[in-house]
Amino acid sequence: MAAKAAADAAEYAADEARGYADETESSDVEAAAENAALDAENARAAADLASDANDSRTVAMAVEIAEAAQAEAEGALADAAEAKAAEEKAKEEEMLASAEYLGNFTLTAYCNCARCCGTAGNATASGVMPTSNHTVAMGGIDFGTKLLINGTVYTVEDRGTPYGHVDIFMDSHSEALQFGMGSADVYLIRE
Ligand SMILES: [Zn+2]
Repeated sequence: MAAKAAADAAEYAADEARGYADETESSDVEAAAENAALDAENARAAADLASDANDSRTVAMAVEIAEAAQAEAEGALADAAEAKAAEEKAKEEEMLASAEYLGNFTLTAYCNCARCCGTAGNATASGVMPTSNHTVAMGGIDFGTKLLINGTVYTVEDRGTPYGHVDIFMDSHSEALQFGMGSADVYLIRE
């Protein structure tokens, strides 16, 4: 049983690492996920050996191998997580390097309801439907302009606030209320 539990844990770690690899283009993450998968296979093979073996010495050895493989798989998962974080940081730094600082702007949030927009369910001033984590409103700047705010890249698709005040689209009125009002450094992203 100990070997089976180790193999299950190794496979879980390998699945998690594969999940990270699927979200990135980093070859480091990919390599770590492959390592975790190999470790999980080793753990499973050792678990099979442990369940087939008749002598206690072989079982003990197989358990030890399975547990070592589990530790390796979990280490590989940690490597994958670290490589993924490094990739994200590098991407953000690259974006910032080509960004132009616009200023510390006022931030508020809105949604598609009648209270925020007069009538509910309207398209944006640019004609597209607004989407969360993407659409912002601000006057004095072209539609389609990309703004980096607190690590997220938004697109100016709507109007309603003057230049220097970014209104961020959210899925619900309660989210918009909860966001309240704030300020942040706003960068223009050139692509
Ligand atoms: Zn609303």
